Amino acid sequence: MASCCNNPTNLDAESTLHLVIVGGGSAAFAAATRAHELGAAVTIINDGLPIGGTCVNVGCVPSKTLIRAAEAHHRAVHHSFEGIESTSRVADFGAVIRQKRELVEQLRQAKYLDVVNPLEHVRIIEGRARFVSPDAIEVNGERITHDRFLIATGTSPFVPPIVGLREAGYLTNDSLFELERLPESLIVLGGRYIALECAQMMARFGTRVTVLQRSDRILPTEHPDLTEALTGYLQDDGIDVVTCVTTRSVRREDGRVVVEATVGGEERTFEAAEILVATGRKPNTSDMGLDAAGVDLDDRGFVAVDDTLQSSAPNIFAAGDVIGNPEFVYTAAYEGKLAAENAILGEGTTRDYTALPWVIFTDPQVAGVGLDEAQARAAGIDAQRATLPLTYVPRSLAARDTRGFITLVRDKASDRLVGARILAPEGSELLMEIVLAIRFGITVEQIRSSFHAYLTLGEGVKLATIAFGKDVAALSCCAT
Ligand SMILES: Cc1cc2nc3c(=O)[nH]c(=O)nc-3n(C[C@H](O)[C@H](O)[C@H](O)COP(=O)(O)OP(=O)(O)OC[C@H]3O[C@@H](n4cnc5c(N)ncnc54)[C@H](O)[C@@H]3O)c2cc1C
Repeated sequence: MASCCNNPTNLDAESTLHLVIVGGGSAAFAAATRAHELGAAVTIINDGLPIGGTCVNVGCVPSKTLIRAAEAHHRAVHHSFEGIESTSRVADFGAVIRQKRELVEQLRQAKYLDVVNPLEHVRIIEGRARFVSPDAIEVNGERITHDRFLIATGTSPFVPPIVGLREAGYLTNDSLFELERLPESLIVLGGRYIALECAQMMARFGTRVTVLQRSDRILPTEHPDLTEALTGYLQDDGIDVVTCVTTRSVRREDGRVVVEATVGGEERTFEAAEILVATGRKPNTSDMGLDAAGVDLDDRGFVAVDDTLQSSAPNIFAAGDVIGNPEFVYTAAYEGKLAAENAILGEGTTRDYTALPWVIFTDPQVAGVGLDEAQARAAGIDAQRATLPLTYVPRSLAARDTRGFITLVRDKASDRLVGARILAPEGSELLMEIVLAIRFGITVEQIRSSFHAYLTLGEGVKLATIAFGKDVAALSCCAT
């Protein structure tokens, strides 16, 4: 059996409770450290992606550092200050990728391996795990029998069954961040967060980007005001955003990708050097012997769990992306910890997603928490919405970047916030004040009467609360 890291001698002591974790990403590591704190022995079995899983290797970390690199290049030239002229050039894209690789390796070591290596009763096995019964797993030809299991195998890129796509060859988030040369042009299939973050990043590095989105708008679950504004900003970056697209076939011709599609009933052909598939994620649940383990899946193939994260097999829990929405690294870690506690202590604590923030790292960023106005009304709340364009925020005016707005939604009866949607450069930094207000029942009036430093972006939240009752345009400086 191939194994690395710790190899404790008393793992199999009968008195020690043993948690076997399948998968080696954020959910797995949070579960392992919590289980260890609770006195359990832990075996992590990981295969496919390197240790650390999606976030550090092919997800959050590489995407966010490359987005920042692209932004540094873009902003050097694209600003609104008169009298300042600068130039910027991507002189060595390979160096950008090498620096990203170093960061990934450094964080993989520091945030994953170095965290569990000192733990005496945590062992990592590299190999593909397969259940043979509810209490036994096979890995590298060896059977591991124990009483508690956690499935934390995450998701992989979903590749739609489009004629010719496989033969033509395509990129996903697993390969895009490893390209050492910028393609001259790129077709991006998909219009949700991974597609949009990657599209804008590549466009800002200098690739000509076309986004092909099946729905009639990008981010179709968000309010049209928001998605229309974001579409405009992406177009300002030179991205061609095409909606209502049904992709019929893909082929490679003279080295170039050719996409035949129907766009709103019209036949169209798109051509580019490369194609990125960012059409969603599929759960890593196949070929894992889950039938033999008695673990039920939902209709999309994700592991079905109850609110304590227990699967249909009582001794098998699941956490992270493999159980479906929400699919973020912080929710994966939260679920991993909770599942470990429930598996070991048996207390049946339920998950709580009150005031869950989320961010899309486009520029301007899209950030949200809680309900939008329509969702609040559908939930029977007497909801009121206040939208503050950034043209009213002194910080944005001073920065000469007034793209976007802040929308707050409150329950009129209680004056408490129930949700927010922000479209703003660095807008994600505004979220936490709103998250805490929602979670701890702070009223709009209490936010409005709190000092917010001038000129901060955070002042925009205060101004948005004022917009519930007053015309913000009529306010003096440092409005109260
Ligand atoms: C491009 C991109 C950008 C993202 N950006 C963000 C962001 O900015 N912020 C954020 O919060 N989230 C982001 N996410 C989401 C985040 O990465 C995931 O929510 C998180 O990594 C899920 O962690 P996990 O532990 O559930 O699964 P994973 O990290 O996917 O870990 C699962 C591990 O199990 C392994 N495995 C699978 N099957 C088996 C098997 N049978 N045996 C053994 N091992 C197996 C896999 O190879 C993998 O190593 C992003 C995702 C992507 C793709």
